[in-house]
Amino acid sequence: MARDWHQIDRFLMGEAWAGSRIPEYRDHLCHEIGERWGGGEGDQQAAMFIRQEMEGNGLESARIEEFKLDTWEYSSATAVVLESGESLEIKPFLRCPPIDMTAPVVDLGWGTPREIEAADGRIRGAIVVMSLGPEPFTPPLPHTARLELAARNGAVAAIVIESKTGGRMEYRSANDWRSPGIAPHPLPTVNISFEAAGRLKYHAARGRAVRLRVESRFFDAPANNVIAEIPGDQWSDEHVIVAGHHDTVFGTPGGNDNTSGTVAVMEAARVLAALKRETGVGPGRSIRFATWSGEEQGLQGAYAYVARHHGKNGLKSPPRFALNLDELSTGHMKGVVVMTEHMRSFMQGQLDTMSDSLQCHVQGPLDAHSDHFPFVRAAIPAGILWRWRFSGRHATSEFHHESGDSAEKLNVRELKEYVGQICRLMLRLSHVPPEQWPDNPHTADEMERRAAAEIGTHTPTFHG
Ligand SMILES: [Zn+2]
Repeated sequence: MARDWHQIDRFLMGEAWAGSRIPEYRDHLCHEIGERWGGGEGDQQAAMFIRQEMEGNGLESARIEEFKLDTWEYSSATAVVLESGESLEIKPFLRCPPIDMTAPVVDLGWGTPREIEAADGRIRGAIVVMSLGPEPFTPPLPHTARLELAARNGAVAAIVIESKTGGRMEYRSANDWRSPGIAPHPLPTVNISFEAAGRLKYHAARGRAVRLRVESRFFDAPANNVIAEIPGDQWSDEHVIVAGHHDTVFGTPGGNDNTSGTVAVMEAARVLAALKRETGVGPGRSIRFATWSGEEQGLQGAYAYVARHHGKNGLKSPPRFALNLDELSTGHMKGVVVMTEHMRSFMQGQLDTMSDSLQCHVQGPLDAHSDHFPFVRAAIPAGILWRWRFSGRHATSEFHHESGDSAEKLNVRELKEYVGQICRLMLRLSHVPPEQWPDNPHTADEMERRAAAEIGTHTPTFHG
């Protein structure tokens, strides 16, 4: 039977808009629950809420999949200048080990190889202070690579200077997430505000020492992914998946990161279930919906899911395509970024049927910053939505991984449009016959080698 895409699109866009439950879901996740650090109480509550809502919206298959999260928390962090007694506000990087050390502070500037070489002899046994951002006008070296270099030269801890001003500090990672597993910090690393760093450098120039203390602990905690699907009625043994993480970093309800993507998954599930219920039009192959925990702690939820369902080599009944939704309130939707070239013209062809001038691009070097990466690593075709993430984005979305990423940062009207477009795209993908999909030329071994080769290099995702 020929499908009437005009009628289907009208239903999907209309229901995504007029039937939207975005404000209600946003309020529950951001205000009722709030912070959702993976493995913590809010994270558990969120998973239960998402499962329950999906079930209430007609997805009877909605279920929780528990996994063991390798997690961490900190209780205090202080940096006190020995000679003056001044206490400078700091924030540990994610998974900073517990430390209590007193050492001289050495200013490394940008922390470039050149500056580290110039400071030779002074670095050993010292706490180094360096900028988060790379040195301007030179090929950018990620801060993770510069931390490695400082550690190799004998530094005992690093204080990294936040690029944002006004006393703000993001939670950040000291490790390159292209590395396999969860690596320890190259050296204990904390963040300091742009302004407090000025004070610290003043003291460093006078040869003063700092007592650096972080109280933290590592432990395992159960964490929950949420999975549901609408079964396909033509190729029910095949599926496509749309997912996003429901956890946040400490101290924020994560309006943009990633209440936006979580709510989009919930809404897409609701709208597509309503389409089937009210018009009889369902997916061709199954559409699976998932929200992950543990994204902010090394993408652990998505890794656990891929290992469990598809195996490390990704060969066990992989999805035809995995779409990852993260930070959908940075700006409007421009298209899709696929992670491998072989998907480009196929995806562009699908977007063209939507007549919204949406573009497909291909991620060059691998991007390990979000939950598509565990799929990519297993050579499963994956993508993210191309949105105004880094240039041309909304000023309100500057509040990333900090308390300012509040419920107000979720742009309701834009998210309604995202939901409608995600439904249109996923339903189309569900109806493309198996023989029309491009062959996947990639293997998990090849992706692993690529990831290993790219460790320490700059990822050009921060443009466009
Ligand atoms: Zn995120």
